Amino acid sequence: MTTSLNAVITGSTSGIGLGIANAFAAEGWNVMLNGFGDADEIEKTRTGLAEKYNVDVRYNGADMTKPDQIDDLIKEAEVAFGQIDVLVNNAGIQFVSPIEEFPAEKWDAIIAINLSSAFHTTKAVFAGMKKRGFGRIINVASAHGLVASPFKSAYVAAKHGIVGLTKTVALEGAEFGVTCNAICPGYVKTPLVEKQIPDTAKARNMTEEEVVQKVILEAQPTKQFVTTEQVGALAVFLCSDNAAQITGAAHQIDGGWVAH
Ligand code: NAD
Repeated sequence: MTTSLNAVITGSTSGIGLGIANAFAAEGWNVMLNGFGDADEIEKTRTGLAEKYNVDVRYNGADMTKPDQIDDLIKEAEVAFGQIDVLVNNAGIQFVSPIEEFPAEKWDAIIAINLSSAFHTTKAVFAGMKKRGFGRIINVASAHGLVASPFKSAYVAAKHGIVGLTKTVALEGAEFGVTCNAICPGYVKTPLVEKQIPDTAKARNMTEEEVVQKVILEAQPTKQFVTTEQVGALAVFLCSDNAAQITGAAHQIDGGWVAH
């Protein structure tokens, strides 16, 4: 493995994607960030990572619902870094509703961002990885890629879909040094999850700690959140030489959720 890798991480302006970006930059790898958010904040993140770890960190705001913008993101990273060694498909959104009321446009958006974008990015990087004989593709799925919950039809369908895509890409890359794995986190305390805690506490007349234990972490036997650092460390390991024979797998990092 080359000592310095070049990585593209979709949805890396926040939460898990940003945690993975931190972990990669700490390894000395160059990173192309992507995602939405306040332009000044994103620029602060970009320069902060670049300066702290002395690596090349870029940003491209491609919308993962737009295949032409996805192609531009990959092209920009290839020009900036020379090649892409690591692709992390992480961008994702959630929407919760009974299926009979589930808005069709939310279904389309979730399938586009959480599933189809990974097809477009993978398609764009795959030939180069195969030619060079090295590549690492990591799809951030979810415990919901392996089990379901009610009212999350689009999310669960997309996450199961990306686990299937992971297996197919793994088989196509197997003889070329290109691995493809899914990471299936349980609850991770990202801004998205954190924001729900005070409102839920008010609505249910509970303390915030009760909300965490009895509502959010009900599914997670350890009753602890997964951290973005832990997901980042798993992603780094999956990129290592020691992970060369790990491919086509869905790696649970969920405090035991899927085990029960
Ligand atoms: P987050 O909201 O903190 O981050 C999502 C990222 O995706 C942000 O950078 C956002 O800007 C980006 N994004 C959203 N729509 C986009 C679009 N159209 N184009 C480009 N970027 C877009 O959420 P998170 O919790 O860090 O989630 C990251 C991934 O991890 C998602 O795929 C999510 O399904 C998955 N996941 C999260 C949890 C959890 O508990 N937080 C658990 C399992 C899996």
